[in-house]
Amino acid sequence: MTEKQLQHFRQTLEKQLKESMLMFDLIGRSINRRKGVLQEEAKDKATRSDDFKLLLQQADQERKRVGEIHQALNRMTCGRYGICVACKRQISLSRLEIFPTARFCLECTQLLEQEEKNREWTRASTT
Ligand SMILES: [Zn+2]
Repeated sequence: MTEKQLQHFRQTLEKQLKESMLMFDLIGRSINRRKGVLQEEAKDKATRSDDFKLLLQQADQERKRVGEIHQALNRMTCGRYGICVACKRQISLSRLEIFPTARFCLECTQLLEQEEKNREWTRASTT
């Protein structure tokens, strides 16, 4: 990967990080607002707790995304960005363009997914 390409992905990641942090902040505020409402009125419990659950899931997702972006930026600092952590081959630029935080190359991802599917299938057939 050239210096210019690396720079491009760094900018993409930093932009995504900023967006995620804003989103994280927004969700956090919604959660705190919702908490107040939840404590005030316990009626209509089902729908409200559903909303709350959704917000918590969103917060968790956003936290994961922020973590992934940080990891990708760390790999950039160490000069390991864009290299598959499993097979150590270069991850294709078109893949990084879609998933700038990708840790695995396409082949390894497909193998992983295949294995997970097999495991699920085994679990489903034994239970
Ligand atoms: Zn790989």
